[in-house]
Amino acid sequence: MNEKPEKLIDKKGCRLDGRKADELRPLKLEVGVLANADGSAYIEHGKNKILAAVFGPREMHPKHLSLPDRMVIRCRYHMAPFSVQERKSPAPSRREVELSKVIRESLEPSLFVELYPRTGIDLFIEVLQADGGTRCASITAASLAIADAGIPMRDLVAACAAGKVDDTVVVDLFDLEDKLGVADVPLALMPNLNAVTLLQMDGILTPEEFEQAVNMAMEGCKKIYAMQKDALKTKYMAIKEEVEEE
Ligand code: UDP
Repeated sequence: MNEKPEKLIDKKGCRLDGRKADELRPLKLEVGVLANADGSAYIEHGKNKILAAVFGPREMHPKHLSLPDRMVIRCRYHMAPFSVQERKSPAPSRREVELSKVIRESLEPSLFVELYPRTGIDLFIEVLQADGGTRCASITAASLAIADAGIPMRDLVAACAAGKVDDTVVVDLFDLEDKLGVADVPLALMPNLNAVTLLQMDGILTPEEFEQAVNMAMEGCKKIYAMQKDALKTKYMAIKEEVEEE
């Protein structure tokens, strides 16, 4: 698919990858995948493949970065050089610095930072393969990794984008739709609290289209939330079985 297609949505309303406007890409979520992290998760969201690892809450190094009244969250979003079609330099790009900040801020409201003064948590996100919507998939995986680390949370954070391709508002854009589409609205949600923790917009939408995109993204987040809970349950059911066998 190197040539620019004339239309991103056909007459029947099907997208280039065969999905309908309100259909998510296939998702696979796995919890506790890394032995050396306090918590970890792996996500396949369409063709995106992303690992998230978390450490802490632990003493901050360097110490002068710690805060007397709250926990500090550090987040590093990184794309592997082989994760995109054109080799990406392994050095952090401006985009990665921005996404690290955006992801950190979308997860922070889910944590009781005030209960852990003078400590910090470190969150590492490695994008192994990218196909559009990696910030959302990273948030979904990182929130699961935090839960896996046993860090108390107000709610899980699930993230999903919606946007406009051709004349249609669609959910969960993949790379080509992201690049050739009209607009992209990534959104993160704490579904149980019904609280939005990230809302961005790239492109132009009418107020009505924006509302439709936000609603579609929120519906997407709710579906992803159910899958996050299943992934956590799967891990603990496996542990339960192991313990019962002993
Ligand atoms: N991308 C790329 N090379 C890069 C950075 C991004 O090919 O150096 C692609 C990748 O597939 C990514 C997409 O562009 O998912 C959209 O990037 P954007 O900045 O919109 O963030 P995302 O949609 O991944 O959250």
